[in-house]
Amino acid sequence: MTSKDKRFPLPLSSVVNQKDKSGDRSLNRTAMPQTAMRNAAHHLSGKAAHQTAPRAEPRFSQGGNVGNASNTGTAGLSPSLLSGPLVSEGVRRAMVARVAQQGVRDTTVLAALQAVPRHLFLESGMASQAYVDASLPIGHHQTISQPYIVARMLEIMRNGANLGRVLEIGTGCGYQAAVLSVVAKEVYSIERIKALHELAKTNLRPMRIANIRLHYGDGMLGLPQEAPFDGIILAAAGMEVPQALLQQLRVGGRLVAPVGGRNQVLQLIERVSNYEWTRAVMEQCHFVPLHSGVI
Ligand code: SAH
Repeated sequence: MTSKDKRFPLPLSSVVNQKDKSGDRSLNRTAMPQTAMRNAAHHLSGKAAHQTAPRAEPRFSQGGNVGNASNTGTAGLSPSLLSGPLVSEGVRRAMVARVAQQGVRDTTVLAALQAVPRHLFLESGMASQAYVDASLPIGHHQTISQPYIVARMLEIMRNGANLGRVLEIGTGCGYQAAVLSVVAKEVYSIERIKALHELAKTNLRPMRIANIRLHYGDGMLGLPQEAPFDGIILAAAGMEVPQALLQQLRVGGRLVAPVGGRNQVLQLIERVSNYEWTRAVMEQCHFVPLHSGVI
């Protein structure tokens, strides 16, 4: 990346490979300008967003959110019905309500979840399930994250504050990056599987989100050239959080990551000084594994 690429905001089209012809299927999709997403988020969060008290202490839940998906709402709808903006808004609202019922309180995050059309990140055959609160396959043995956990991680990372520059490890289909783009000023996202990096570009391009930068590479190394970050979020679980990412966190910044193998927990790591980080375990979770290198 050259220094002139670093200015924000830029249309997503300016950072994707212009020669890439794989974006054709996006032409059939409903464009959702990011300004519309932000407006919707603003409208929905309203005054309540400012009432979200910053939580100094991490909450410790009893866990048990894993596999807690509620299957109400969309099962009977055909993909063609869901592609209508009004229908998808309604089922999305129901999904957001279920996420709130599960304990996510941050209205700014809930509004961001409402603003992003999750069905546009799925294969048409899967779109009817887009608003079930579950992770779903996106190919290459990877999944789009469960809306509850996306919201929970963002809530933990924000802690009621406005986010500047954030880094996501594991772009996948680009859904979480789109949600992040509503709550943070600048979003950098890294994916190690080339085909998924391309898929995310294809999915995000028609949305013209100006503040997302997609990178193809090994996220375990972070993006030192763009550091420090106010927040870092991992969408894949390693046995420990990579050192490089801890170093790229701004002092005062918060990193949220699933950690573990078969049994995973969500960890919150805060950088409290140049040489000091604190760690808290938030709840159980289940993510695909974090791998090094690119494919
Ligand atoms: N953020 C996605 C979730 C994708 S699943 C969403 O919105 O739904 C997690 C992703 O992490 C997978 O695409 C996987 O390929 C990617 N991943 C795993 N290890 C990685 C690494 N070291 N660097 C970058 N991406 C990685």
